[in-house]
Amino acid sequence: MISDFIQKYNLPNFRIKQFNQAFYHDLIENWEDFFTWPKDLREKLKQEIPFSTLEIARSLTSAKKDTMKILFKVKRLDKYIESVLMHFADGRNTLCISCMVGCPVGCKFCATGKLGFGGNLTSQEMIDQIMYFLRLLKKENQKLSNIVFMGMGEPLLNLDNVWETMQIISHPEKLAMSMRKITVSTSGYIPQFKELVERGYRGRVAVSLHFPTQEMREKYMPVAKIYQLSNLVKALEEFVELTNKRVSFEYVMIKDLNDRQEDARALVKLFHTRLIHFNLIPYNPIKGENFQRSSREQIEKFGEILQQNGIPYSVRLTMGDDIGAACGQLAGEK
Ligand code: SAH
Ligand code: SF4
Repeated sequence: MISDFIQKYNLPNFRIKQFNQAFYHDLIENWEDFFTWPKDLREKLKQEIPFSTLEIARSLTSAKKDTMKILFKVKRLDKYIESVLMHFADGRNTLCISCMVGCPVGCKFCATGKLGFGGNLTSQEMIDQIMYFLRLLKKENQKLSNIVFMGMGEPLLNLDNVWETMQIISHPEKLAMSMRKITVSTSGYIPQFKELVERGYRGRVAVSLHFPTQEMREKYMPVAKIYQLSNLVKALEEFVELTNKRVSFEYVMIKDLNDRQEDARALVKLFHTRLIHFNLIPYNPIKGENFQRSSREQIEKFGEILQQNGIPYSVRLTMGDDIGAACGQLAGEK
């Protein structure tokens, strides 16, 4: 990692500043282009530190050209991860990054969960996903608007590395993006969530809720057996109280399983606060499971019940369906 290199050669502050400028701002494409360092130092860097920890294995663009998915090989692990860039009609570019190879949590409806756990990513491996897309966007005179930890893996089970990544994203001399542009998504690890907030996280929070009762949740999401739904709701309401920030809930809509009107009514009863938002996600069928996507009509009916009870909702666009943009689907093929 670059920080090891800086330490090893005991580089003075101005060299670090030059590095940050070239790497994070000028978005150089390789070490050859790093002209602000003298040749001998640049040569050492070239020999000791690979320019990226990742290699591109496959690149897919949706037919509508609004979604791009990259399958990266993590060199250190010789395993694959995915990142997805979404370009929205209002001009925003949102990047979804992975924090693990696969995922140890094992939710039954999730392609990544089916892969099992293949290792935690380092902060450099997470940053290199971002750097790849920043360089790409620069060529089109575009910028990143948001970064979401919603790719492969459970961010709160790789907390130290995810936190370090967030520091690099928000560091004024590094990526210099406000923490408010970051979203972390969790399936519900309560103590780790509290730890993140204690460390000072004030970005956005999304929670994969998916089911309105403890019984249903623990049937499909193993984490729910450890951390009860009622305690999860409590912890999140405390966060809302503390920060006055809206929490988002992800709710994957699976036909006849969790998309009934009584499920929506149960959700309404779960919360005291209304500083929340529901993201209804049309389920993306995965291999080996018989779950089906709820109909558009059913999803709207469900959302209406939330809305009538003061809970705003949106239906997540099914962008990039044609390229399997639900994370884990591509890496699974590998
Ligand atoms: N592990 C974290 C971060 C992953 S985010 C979490 O679970 O929150 C990825 C989101 O996509 C999660 O909300 C996840 O539940 C959802 N998801 C998983 N499988 C899906 C599928 N087949 N179709 C649609 N969404 C899915
Ligand atoms: Fe892991 Fe999230 Fe998939 Fe569950 S939904 S298996 S926590 S990536």
